[in-house]
Amino acid sequence: AVPIAVTGGMSRASRAGIVVRDGAALELLGRTTTLLLDKTGTVTEGRPEITDVVCAPGVTPEHALRLAAAVEQYSLHVLAAAVLRAASRAGVEVHSAEDVSESPGRGATGRVGGETVQVGRIPAGAEVPEWASAVLRRGRLDLATVIWVTVDGELTAALLGRDRIRPDAVRTMRRLHAAGVRRVVLLTGDRVDTSTEVAAMLGLDEVQAEATPEDKISRVRREGEHGTVVMVGDGINDAPALAVADVGIALGSRGSTAAVQSADAVIVDDRIDRLADAMEIARRARRVAS
Ligand code: ADP
Ligand code: MG
Repeated sequence: AVPIAVTGGMSRASRAGIVVRDGAALELLGRTTTLLLDKTGTVTEGRPEITDVVCAPGVTPEHALRLAAAVEQYSLHVLAAAVLRAASRAGVEVHSAEDVSESPGRGATGRVGGETVQVGRIPAGAEVPEWASAVLRRGRLDLATVIWVTVDGELTAALLGRDRIRPDAVRTMRRLHAAGVRRVVLLTGDRVDTSTEVAAMLGLDEVQAEATPEDKISRVRREGEHGTVVMVGDGINDAPALAVADVGIALGSRGSTAAVQSADAVIVDDRIDRLADAMEIARRARRVAS
């Protein structure tokens, strides 16, 4: 039988905007020792805007945006939407692309007018080119995500996407620690410097950046060997990690369907403070039940 405190906790959680799959998930949530958080769309608003287009010599921003948008129009990633908005602002006409494929947590590739265009993380083994390093040095990259545009293997442009940390994220992290969560770790596919900065601003305990979806799974598994692990994410790249965590929590309102389907609990509106509400409710239910 499910203790009354647990069923009560589940309905309190659902009134607070977080739907928990079953009593077992609520009980595990009340025992959380380590919380792993995705960055983009989870602790940030997930509405990035492209603020700069930095190009290789001889390349125009319009050309770079045209190529990037041709590929990104087929992607559901929040950065893809930002690229399309930037292209439209620049008055760029978006052509179609062929053979487009997306690798979650890495980026998208396709053929545009006979060229292979790759949009996303810097390709493995590639060095940051001189024309881009100047921008990096000037320190304009604080909190910026870099979307690299590669054409036939050549780095052609870097689009800088800026997202905002959710206004109530700092307070939410404090409440989570106060509710007894021992460690909160930022687990993200984004770059090291941006991610470290975000983790510092939020007072998090640790950060693992440039994590592929597979890295996210192994981190969840490793943490699970000595504690109860909760993973929170919104993206298709988070779905496998949500599935292996003791409790996977998806941000459901704008997140991917894959994330919601893999999760044990869903935050139904676009609010991170629900996480602290749920954690407090789960702790209380556990104390009452035992
Ligand atoms: P996070 O783990 O922070 O939510 P993702 O795993 O979704 O981030 O993405 C990690 C990185 O991969 C992004 O910072 C970006 O550089 C790149 N990326 C993934 N998909 C795309 C895409 N469709 N367009 C541009 N960049 C992408
Ligand atoms: Mg995300």
